[in-house]
Amino acid sequence: MRIVTVGAGPCGLYASRLLSGLGHEVTILEEHPSVGRPVQCAGLVGTPVVERFGREAVINTIDSALIRLGTRSLELHRPGVAHVLDRTRFDASFASGLDIATSSHVTGVRAAGDGTYRVDAAGTVYEADLVIGADGPRSVVRKSMGFSAEVRQYTACQERIVQDVPDEHRVLVEVCRPFFSWAIPEGGGILRVGTFGRQRDLDAFKEHAGLSGGVIERTVACVPVGKAQLVRGGAVLVGDAAAQTKPLSGGGIYYGMCAAEFLASAVEAEDLSLYPAAWQRAFGREVSFGLAARRIYERMSPHDLSRVFDVLCENKDRIEDEADFDRHSSLARLFIGNPRLFAVLGRYLFSMFS
Ligand SMILES: Cc1cc2nc3c(=O)[nH]c(=O)nc-3n(C[C@H](O)[C@H](O)[C@H](O)COP(=O)(O)OP(=O)(O)OC[C@H]3O[C@@H](n4cnc5c(N)ncnc54)[C@H](O)[C@@H]3O)c2cc1C
Repeated sequence: MRIVTVGAGPCGLYASRLLSGLGHEVTILEEHPSVGRPVQCAGLVGTPVVERFGREAVINTIDSALIRLGTRSLELHRPGVAHVLDRTRFDASFASGLDIATSSHVTGVRAAGDGTYRVDAAGTVYEADLVIGADGPRSVVRKSMGFSAEVRQYTACQERIVQDVPDEHRVLVEVCRPFFSWAIPEGGGILRVGTFGRQRDLDAFKEHAGLSGGVIERTVACVPVGKAQLVRGGAVLVGDAAAQTKPLSGGGIYYGMCAAEFLASAVEAEDLSLYPAAWQRAFGREVSFGLAARRIYERMSPHDLSRVFDVLCENKDRIEDEADFDRHSSLARLFIGNPRLFAVLGRYLFSMFS
């Protein structure tokens, strides 16, 4: 089968690698001149990512998180709970041996009417039996092929700064809506600091956290949260193009890479409908939980947020033992039956479903 993948991010590359291994003729079109750049990611992933997709791009390991709400803080410990990736190296590790046309900006995809597709990129038209839209949050494939989607884009900015920190294996997370701000040590005295919002929000976080080191890199990008149709005729979406992210954190590497595997298996079985079915089975409930929790989180009053934080602090040990980095509904399980939490969240739940 002739497959054209739009986008050489980790999800497009990994799906293409698997499909090429199955004997398909895969061409990847990437708008940038090289794979893995620019980096628009904090690169923090849970252990399943490194166990399943390789640890060669790991540059630091995280053992604890200091979570702050205003002047209060909660420190959680679990050795090796997360890993910091060199995203350029991570992406490149899936690229070797693949046919990648760089500097190829795709402007549209259309059905040719005979079951094949035409992909327009930088003056060249590519023919395909299957088109994979792995072109990130603002997917051209999603728009031009008319995929249905309910996706909200959140702007995030991040800097790499030169900064000595007391603990190079601890992340700082400051609760601030719509998500949080972060400071993630790469090791070697470099910190990735970011927030969901504008540069002024990032500057405010840095000032509050006492982070004044010199900036060596800046990025502004989008994180998609929501749900999208995954298959439309002979076109499919994967990764951020399909909003395959964790709604409470915006992290998308694990979900998107797993989705790439589901997609490859469906192509191998010659039944694309197996792809959304497998995605739904693995992550459907998790995403629905995350979207509902996100709606509550965004609406909660500061006073109620503070009461939830109290409950988190009181349950520190259970969170350390039971919370799952990639499955945030594990937190809900922790609090089922907690009357104080129910007293806070009950009316938000009631207003959502009434
Ligand atoms: C600031 C920030 C921090 C993040 N931190 C984390 C984190 O710590 N952990 C985590 O798991 N996730 C994180 N994410 C999310 C993570 O980066 C994405 O989920 C992940 O990159 C998705 O991979 P992808 O392959 O689907 O898309 P992308 O990595 O976005 O790759 C898409 C590719 O398509 C190319 N492309 C786009 N449009 C076109 C076009 N028209 N023609 C040709 N090529 C095109 C792009 O150049 C790009 O190479 C973060 C995101 C942001 C913005």
